[in-house]
Amino acid sequence: MEKADLLLLNARVLTMDPEFHAFPDGAVAVRGGSILAAGALSDLRPRIDPQETIDCNGAILMPALVNAHTHAAMALLRGLADDLRLDVWLLGYMMPVERQFVSPDFVRLGTRLACAEMIRGGTGTLADMYYFEDEAAAAIAGAGLRAVCAQTVMKFPTPDSDSFEDGLERARAFLRQWKDHPLIVPAVAAHAPYTCTEEILRACTALAVEYDAPLHIHIAETAQEVENARREFGMPEVPYLRNLGVLAAKLIAAHGVHLDEGEMRTLKKAGAGIVHSPTSNLKLASGIAPIAKMLEIGLNVGIGTDGAASNNDLDMFEELRLAALLAKGFSGNPVVVPARTALAMATRMGAHALHIGDRTGSIEPGKRADLLLLDLNQVHSSPKFDRSPDSVYSRIVYSAKAGDVTDLMVDGKWLMRDRRLLTLPETDLLQQAAETAHQLDAFLTLRESSVLSKLIAIETAAEEESFEVQVKVRLGEDFPVLARLTRPDVEIVYSRHFREFDTYFEFPAADQGRLRYREDQYVEENGESASARYRLTLTGPIHEREFTGAVLLSRSRFLAPATHSLRFYREYFQPAREIEVAKERLRWRIRYQDTDFFINFDHLSKPALPGCFLEVKARTWSRRDAEHKAGMIVEIVRLLGAQDSAAFKEDYVELATKKE
Ligand SMILES: [Zn+2]
Repeated sequence: MEKADLLLLNARVLTMDPEFHAFPDGAVAVRGGSILAAGALSDLRPRIDPQETIDCNGAILMPALVNAHTHAAMALLRGLADDLRLDVWLLGYMMPVERQFVSPDFVRLGTRLACAEMIRGGTGTLADMYYFEDEAAAAIAGAGLRAVCAQTVMKFPTPDSDSFEDGLERARAFLRQWKDHPLIVPAVAAHAPYTCTEEILRACTALAVEYDAPLHIHIAETAQEVENARREFGMPEVPYLRNLGVLAAKLIAAHGVHLDEGEMRTLKKAGAGIVHSPTSNLKLASGIAPIAKMLEIGLNVGIGTDGAASNNDLDMFEELRLAALLAKGFSGNPVVVPARTALAMATRMGAHALHIGDRTGSIEPGKRADLLLLDLNQVHSSPKFDRSPDSVYSRIVYSAKAGDVTDLMVDGKWLMRDRRLLTLPETDLLQQAAETAHQLDAFLTLRESSVLSKLIAIETAAEEESFEVQVKVRLGEDFPVLARLTRPDVEIVYSRHFREFDTYFEFPAADQGRLRYREDQYVEENGESASARYRLTLTGPIHEREFTGAVLLSRSRFLAPATHSLRFYREYFQPAREIEVAKERLRWRIRYQDTDFFINFDHLSKPALPGCFLEVKARTWSRRDAEHKAGMIVEIVRLLGAQDSAAFKEDYVELATKKE
């Protein structure tokens, strides 16, 4: 007789081993947190001497599920901003909120909340990727779950690191501290190819290889990302990563929605795991990963919920059902990814994708005892058919719910019994989460109330309160501006030719000012556009007054390079109205009586206005200086022989508005 700590009997055991052994009247013996034996009860009973027996009353006994890609702490951001495009969602909402709120406490609370949800839904192992990952790991281990925890490194400042060097140091310390933990496998997360530099990707790989740790990364999540990679690196992401040596690490590649077949084969050869996150991909309209092809090639494809902010729950039953259904709908082939395969992805294959297939993911002697009990005697999963051995997988994948999980064991310890959580104070967590949500709401409400605060949240905008003095004169078609400028008392410092395309966002409240997105194409002497720069300028309401024939403008301006697309800003700022202005601009910087001025000579194509416009302007930071320059500007206008035409105060936006 073999001694065991526990014998689970009267269960329908699904081992999820490579041969899918199943025992309708089965039993599982556990000793020292490991699986000692699994088989028919009639086989185990005579040879196992357990300290304790538990009657499973005919429930399904199967491996605990593996959530192979998530950001657990983001459970606190669940439902914060939905129905947005990935870049607006991530850069406009998630990252600014994370910068403001994500602290060790936030990560501890969010991770514990996520763990409670995952335990309820039968998840025994998760692959987490976040900040302050030491806090996440402590929370996960405290809840009794198994995890591959990856400390995030990227090129932007993050809530836990001002620079990628800091992030890397943090990752190293994390690996060192957690490397021999029984439940936690520490790992490095190079967030994504587009959020990391080559240097970061190389450094993260070296660190992961040094510690024999997994490297968790997002790849090919959106078509746009892949297109950018082709443009920027001259190739898709997988060959780019291979060239950098990243495939030498034990890779966990999340998403892979837009991988081509060659990339899949490369990942397979490198032994990489890939993680399918169907709900997140659908919600952010990223696409549908070609998992039938991945499975055909032999990749270990796991299933992950992604963070609760993009899902919005951590329900693996929903994910595995979607995985099975989408693969069929996407390929037009109802026989691909059968229920049994989907369940394998959420268990054994997921564990292999995380490079911990030796210790969890199936019920096999020697693996750790990560088990769940599932009650299928529910109205939504009845009746049952016994004709085909595969019908039990259909019931689980196509009709079972997370709430049908009654018990969960990880590493031989119960985390939930009869739907009661044993390691987490659920009521307290809900209360604390509600308090955090209240603070987040207040923060975003304040931020959304001002265009300026929204701008500062996404760009490094610099304010300059400045005075502008200008005279704008409307002239006929053939005004010889250069000839007029060529005179002994005017020094031309430089001249430029631009094509400028401006989009102005206007907001319902006039005191919000106007936001201008400008594409400045620098035009070469041969008339070709050479390079373009993109800038955002928020101008506050203008205070203007006539001053000795010139117009004195006083306003605050916030300047920032535009790092995103016009579409991004449109969706993020949601202006009430847009006005477009396009023009050819000849610009001179001149020196007149030891003072610098700008001369702009504009032809407008949008609104299409006949004639041309001459602007003489100066910008300064003091009112006294502005008043002094105003007098000189009037003089320059007269020198250029443009004084006969009426100077006017309307700007191009006003002209464009009238034209509409
Ligand atoms: Zn993710």
